[in-house]
Amino acid sequence: MKNAERIGRLGTETAFAVSAEAREWAAQGHKVYAFHIGDINIRTPDNIIEAAHKAMLDGKTGYVANAGIAELREALAADVNASHGTSFDASNVAIQPGGKPVIGKFILSLMNPGDEVLYPNPGYPIYESQIEFHGGKAVPYGFVPGKDNFGFDMASLEKAVTPKTRLLIVNDLQNPTGAEASEAELKAIAEFAVKHGLYVLCDEAYFDMRFSGKSKTLVSFPGMAERSIILYTFSKKYAMTGWRLGAALGPRSVIDVIAKLNLNDESCTSNFIQLAGIEALTGDQSGSRKIIGILKERRDRAAVILNSVPGVTCYRPDATFYLYPDVTALMKAKGFADDYEGFRKDVLHTTGVSFCTRLHFGRALPGETRRYVRLAYSGIDMALIEEGLGKFKEYAEK
Ligand code: PMP
Repeated sequence: MKNAERIGRLGTETAFAVSAEAREWAAQGHKVYAFHIGDINIRTPDNIIEAAHKAMLDGKTGYVANAGIAELREALAADVNASHGTSFDASNVAIQPGGKPVIGKFILSLMNPGDEVLYPNPGYPIYESQIEFHGGKAVPYGFVPGKDNFGFDMASLEKAVTPKTRLLIVNDLQNPTGAEASEAELKAIAEFAVKHGLYVLCDEAYFDMRFSGKSKTLVSFPGMAERSIILYTFSKKYAMTGWRLGAALGPRSVIDVIAKLNLNDESCTSNFIQLAGIEALTGDQSGSRKIIGILKERRDRAAVILNSVPGVTCYRPDATFYLYPDVTALMKAKGFADDYEGFRKDVLHTTGVSFCTRLHFGRALPGETRRYVRLAYSGIDMALIEEGLGKFKEYAEK
């Protein structure tokens, strides 16, 4: 059979290939330290599991409204209003099977073929995939190293915008860099979006996955609430990645379209999963606090060890569960210069430490000279973090 022409433009998450390679290496009897997986190896809190179980036993197993059940839409609107200062109600919420579906549905709802879309690179690879799959042009913007963390490269945003630009994708608290925009940067991004008449996807997947300080949102800036869609997910804060529960929040005109796409695609998100989502939002929060506490300890330890490795420097972001060390000097010392795959495989085969590199988050941008890798500490316990990064340090010292 011959695939449709658009399939040639559909991208993937090449990080899954790293998982497959790590699995194969482990199957050959080697010890693998899994820093490549952006998943969480901590169980969902009991009260959420019990709520789903009860809902299933109560027979909440049939179809429900395509935009989600009213109680969850209301609870989520209230929850987001409290942290964002917005005035959403249930009609501003379309429940989704995960946060990821919001990306494609945002693009389908608002982008015409030929439109240009600004997206972060390095960034979550699904943006580029979905833009190009639906016939748009994916135009990257980057990040710049600052004192304590990466920030948005406003100059690359300004350079990339053209009269054909229609959408802007912003992932503050960013995967993979951990970048966090300052108040001034958010204001500048908001003014940029308003000035150029862009609609914005605020991918807030890591909004609540933070260890200190308080997350800020782009939608609180003038002109933003009426031009933005928020990607919300239950995946991280409640360790619910496999449950598939998220939402789009924004102006009703777009939320209605997104709900219509739900009706055409998956009909609805599972009823008992949504009822568990209500428990997650409104029930005991101690489980979520515990998850964040565990991840904070892992972050602190991993950042300290990484910064002691010769040829490696690393920020310690306040949010996300990723570290994005600069390994330029180490790669050079080991004779890899810009050969990311050679370096990644050498580290895996010498030490068992498995990570993704910059190239798993988009093509390198012109003029990029620093080399980075991404370590996720959400899927690996403390003892293995210490053992694996210890071996990585020995490798670097040799
Ligand atoms: N956005 C970003 C930036 C992510 O890193 C992820 C998950 N890795 C998602 C969205 C989607 O997550 P989910 O579908 O589990 O909500």
